[in-house]
Amino acid sequence: MVSTTHRDAGVEGVEGGVGVTALMVAAARAIETYRHDTLVRDIYAEHFVLAAPASAGWPVRLQQVPDRDANPLWGRFARYFGLRTRVLDDFLLRSVHTGNARQVVLLGAGLDSRAFRLDWPSGCVIFEIDREGVLAFKNKVLDGLSATPRAARVPVPVDLRADWVAALADAGFDTAAPSVWLAEGLLFYLPAIAEEFLIDTVDRLSTEGSALAFEVKLDKDLMEYRDSPLYTSTTQQIGIDLLSLFDREPRPDSAGALESKGWATSVHTPFDFTRRHGRGPLPEDNDALAGNRWVFANRP
Ligand code: SAM
Repeated sequence: MVSTTHRDAGVEGVEGGVGVTALMVAAARAIETYRHDTLVRDIYAEHFVLAAPASAGWPVRLQQVPDRDANPLWGRFARYFGLRTRVLDDFLLRSVHTGNARQVVLLGAGLDSRAFRLDWPSGCVIFEIDREGVLAFKNKVLDGLSATPRAARVPVPVDLRADWVAALADAGFDTAAPSVWLAEGLLFYLPAIAEEFLIDTVDRLSTEGSALAFEVKLDKDLMEYRDSPLYTSTTQQIGIDLLSLFDREPRPDSAGALESKGWATSVHTPFDFTRRHGRGPLPEDNDALAGNRWVFANRP
């Protein structure tokens, strides 16, 4: 069992700290991949989980979970990640196929395998920003599988609490061209000032026709749900104390900030998409997902 009781603890890779959350999402995607009513297929996900000592014993099939869908972590929470992946896959594909943007920036990319999975139009470049240790692990696993990306893939190892703009520019990002951005499962780990910087920066680097999707948690007090089945089972089963990893400062109003800069935004609960797809998590009592929102923004 890994221990992540300290928010950062200096861990740069997937073996602990916030990086291990990327393995948790990968395990969820592996489980989702092999459901009979799957929302998304990610054949790479299980390889990441099995390659890391921190997660090698975790389930990668629902059949390996004794209480299956009743398990708050590998049942409901994993389905949440499956739904999120599917909805944001659809957002990215819609954005590049209906617009002119050909550069995609995955902020806090973790073990996202979209560069390898999705049907990108020709000329697309996928920039993957995460911390160096996470990307090094990811590259090693993908190299071992001889995986071939379906677009130009550019890993950008940098910490999003620092000034990451120079690293993205050095990696070839073109500020004169439209872009599509994604911050999936990321912002609540960042200090408020880093989130504000990120939103301001995306605005500054985005020309007309650009798009951004991100996830936020609107809970006034995260600790209200500390005894929820989702948080307690995640701590008990895999030793990830999400509440100790989340930043506890009051969150900025990032959707409002983008609106004031001329972006058109729409804000959805995950449950909106559960209903649309006919599967996924539904609201429950003492629900750690109650404050989660998925925000979609377009720069007209
Ligand atoms: N977006 C991916 C997905 O949904 O599969 C990964 C989500 S994972 C829950 C959070 C990711 O954010 C991790 O890969 C972590 O390393 C990254 N992250 C958190 N804080 C970061 C920071 N300060 N700089 C760069 N990456 C960060």
